[in-house]
Amino acid sequence: MSEGAAKKEERRKFQAIKGTRDLLPPDTALWNRVEQTAHEVFSTFGFGEIRLPLFEETELFRRSVGAETDVGKEMWYTFQDPLDLEQIIKERQEAGPNPYADKYGDLRAALFEVQRRVQALTLRPEATASVCRAYIEHNMEQWPQPVKLYYVGPMFRRERPQKGRYRQFYQIGAEVLGVVRPEAKQDWEKEVGKDAAIDAEVIEMLITFFDKVGLQGAELSINSIGHNGPDCRPHYIGKLYNELLKIEDKLGPDSKRRIRTNPLRVLDSKLESEQSYIEKLPHITDSLCPACSAHYAELKHELALRGVRYHENWRLVRGLDYYMRTTFEITAQGLGSQNAVCGGGRYDGLVELLGGPPTKGIGFAIGEDRLILSLQESGKAPAQQGRDVYIAWMGERAHATAIRAAKDLRKAGFSVELPPVEQKFGKALGQADKLGAKYALILGDNEVAEGLWTLKTLADGSQAKFTEPDLLDHLRKSKRVSS
Ligand code: ATP
Ligand code: MG
Repeated sequence: MSEGAAKKEERRKFQAIKGTRDLLPPDTALWNRVEQTAHEVFSTFGFGEIRLPLFEETELFRRSVGAETDVGKEMWYTFQDPLDLEQIIKERQEAGPNPYADKYGDLRAALFEVQRRVQALTLRPEATASVCRAYIEHNMEQWPQPVKLYYVGPMFRRERPQKGRYRQFYQIGAEVLGVVRPEAKQDWEKEVGKDAAIDAEVIEMLITFFDKVGLQGAELSINSIGHNGPDCRPHYIGKLYNELLKIEDKLGPDSKRRIRTNPLRVLDSKLESEQSYIEKLPHITDSLCPACSAHYAELKHELALRGVRYHENWRLVRGLDYYMRTTFEITAQGLGSQNAVCGGGRYDGLVELLGGPPTKGIGFAIGEDRLILSLQESGKAPAQQGRDVYIAWMGERAHATAIRAAKDLRKAGFSVELPPVEQKFGKALGQADKLGAKYALILGDNEVAEGLWTLKTLADGSQAKFTEPDLLDHLRKSKRVSS
């Protein structure tokens, strides 16, 4: 690099990495309101918050999410955990002479040790796997069952960034996990009824949350994708595969590939030219085994009991391998083609796949970025929150009083701007206006001497004098009226 180029590189401005973004005020007020609503609504359904690490062993996601799915490996942010070589050497020395030492001696043992510890880590592309890992790690099967957990936080997928699709995005999700006690297996009808009621309640919670945040035009779709037993999904997939072969030449390259890799996913296609063919394919709900069929019927019944409106969408399959029976999705308006704000489903067996006891699970993940976009598009976003009070002070004595006034007003919950240096009143009022303040509190030598403070209402320019306690009273009353 030439010296000039090096200088230029040094002065280059940094930018957020493609697919990541800064969330700024006033938008962050809406993010906070949404998250606060999730905390409130989910806790009324008995869910507790779990805070998870942002990265895990790569192997955890390989086993659960699956490397060949739509959220597969090529989308992961994977990196090598730096090895602590000093520590390895120290431990080797402490272990004494290596019993397997040959002519390479300790070097060989040390290399094996290094190899054993080489561990790939991955930034989580989703959180269900982590919740299951935590369920196992903390023996949650000994807690009262089912365990109901929710989380809020960023996920990482290397996708093509576009509106509503980012590489760091945020999810609000919930999971219900319940260990299967050996005695429960006997009465499958009762079990199916219980599971369906849990599914329905999870969905009811979701709808309650979306109502409360004011999401417009939310539509719930449900489906059942059966289970991985001989008289159920595999049987259907066989049928589907045969039908797909018949229309193979009518399908685009993605669907063509999926006929062999994951035929169910063909149903998910949005490609216009394929739609008329896909519409005629057999429906999975006609091929469910008796238990899955009963579960699906029961789910619809339980949703109806809860007054939850839904569409059945036989083409709704989820992108991840671990789902079974119930799948659902919620779409909202104002999002273009990225209109899914939430996806979820049942995943009995995932905990066991990760080394835990046989456990049933159901959960969902809300795309918070898309939810916020939709709220903003429909004008549900709160306007910028201005200051309540701008303190226009002048003079040394007024300075001390202004500091005290700011402290008292803030303690009472008002948002206060206290300029760090004195300003001419004209300039102070201009500044108050720019910040959207409701009031200017005017503190000059006269006000301090009299113990009467001037409060100017900026909307109409009216002015009144108050003692400090009267002022607080007045502000409290007017806040109550306006909120
Ligand atoms: P999509 O079909 O839109 O890619 P998905 O099936 O990959 O969604 P899930 O893995 O089920 O989605 O995640 C649940 C929700 O998370 C989605 O409904 C969506 O709202 C949101 N989401 C998924 N990927 C992204 C992303 N890259 N950027 C923003 N939000 C996302
Ligand atoms: Mg996706």
